[in-house]
Amino acid sequence: MNNVINEKVLCDAWDREHLWHPYTSTISPLPTYKVAGAKGCVITLADGTELIDGMSSWWCACHGYNHPVLNAAIREQTESMSHVMFGGFTHQPAIDLGKKLLEMAPDNMHNIFYADSGSVAVEVAMKMAVQYSIAASGSHKRTNFVTIRRGYHGDTWNAMSVCDPVTGMHGAFGSALPIRYFLPSPQSRFNGEWNPADLDPLRQVLAEHHDEIAALILEPIVQGAGGMWFYHPEYLRGARKLCDEYGVLLIFDEIATGFWRTGRLFAWEHAEVKPDIMCIGKCLTGGYMTLSAVLTTKKVADVISGGEAGVLMHGPTFMANPLACAVALASLQLLESQDMKARLTELEARIRELLEPAKEFDNVADVRVIGSIGVVEMKNSIDDIGEFQKECVRRGVWIRPFGRNVYIMPPYIINNEQLTLLVTQMLEIVRKLP
Ligand code: PMP
Repeated sequence: MNNVINEKVLCDAWDREHLWHPYTSTISPLPTYKVAGAKGCVITLADGTELIDGMSSWWCACHGYNHPVLNAAIREQTESMSHVMFGGFTHQPAIDLGKKLLEMAPDNMHNIFYADSGSVAVEVAMKMAVQYSIAASGSHKRTNFVTIRRGYHGDTWNAMSVCDPVTGMHGAFGSALPIRYFLPSPQSRFNGEWNPADLDPLRQVLAEHHDEIAALILEPIVQGAGGMWFYHPEYLRGARKLCDEYGVLLIFDEIATGFWRTGRLFAWEHAEVKPDIMCIGKCLTGGYMTLSAVLTTKKVADVISGGEAGVLMHGPTFMANPLACAVALASLQLLESQDMKARLTELEARIRELLEPAKEFDNVADVRVIGSIGVVEMKNSIDDIGEFQKECVRRGVWIRPFGRNVYIMPPYIINNEQLTLLVTQMLEIVRKLP
């Protein structure tokens, strides 16, 4: 396959002049290809070029695109109401989705706060932790956070403050960001040997500073946009014990890992460690609409409610949007109707097999796979994303690397032929990188 790129059709001049795309310069923006439609695992560009999707649209379109069941759920919901405020009102889609989420979540989860996006879920989780800690300790000092390097938790202010300080946005925002405690990311690999020394920095920080720290925030098992690193479940077990010892809350950001992405319904299951607060988003609506949720225990919710403010201080306009709740419920029911464990085991094995040759490439530092995530870590960073993506479009695939990582996270419905093409084309591109 070698598509000819028709720049006039695919890269809109008005868009280039006026629309700001993610992490993009207005002076020399990267090319943006105009999409006409998407169905299943294929994205069709304005000139008819078809791309096999390796990104699930930043990891959310787990059922692929244009799914008849999800389309119907939204269509039906619009017939009764598209939106109504959640202050003073409730509705069946929010209730039904909430019941389903509590069936799926760790059994200590009891209260659900619906939020707008992953980043906002992280903000809400951090606000919960601060309000809880002030109420529980009676001190306004316990308001900081500890986290590990290589993390990513979103682009809003507090979420940014707990992203990796080097690959994240600390450089661009300088002293505007609150200063957090950063620990080394655990070195022990998932499926590798456990080195207990990985927990030493956390033990030390908590011993010295627990009276300033409200919570430890982690992406369990898979660190996504901060470095695509998969670490040992024992880290989570040790972290849980240390948090309990020092009365620090444990927040799991399962926004990227939730809903089977790592081969389990949620990544906490790899370690059997339950958090105090859990953020979910992305695949929650099958990638149809923006919606996230923050789940917490009865204890956390009740302590916040018994605190100074007497309430959780957050309430967005589009909270529990009925369209988003309806499509999320349909998406979760779709997941439940299939043997997802078997599907993910199969996907993982196939991705592992297809990526195997990359281990021999001179320019490759590491290859790792978990669930439906396949990562090729290069020795050098990929500086020319525009050229990389041009090559993808020429070859009929869609992959967007970052830093030194070229990775795929395809929709779970990708068929064997599509997956084979996606990975073989990816390796052809990777082989030629510096
Ligand atoms: N947390 C994690 C772990 C994420 O991967 C992301 C998004 N990549 C976010 C939070 C932020 O989510 P959103 O982009 O929906 O704000």
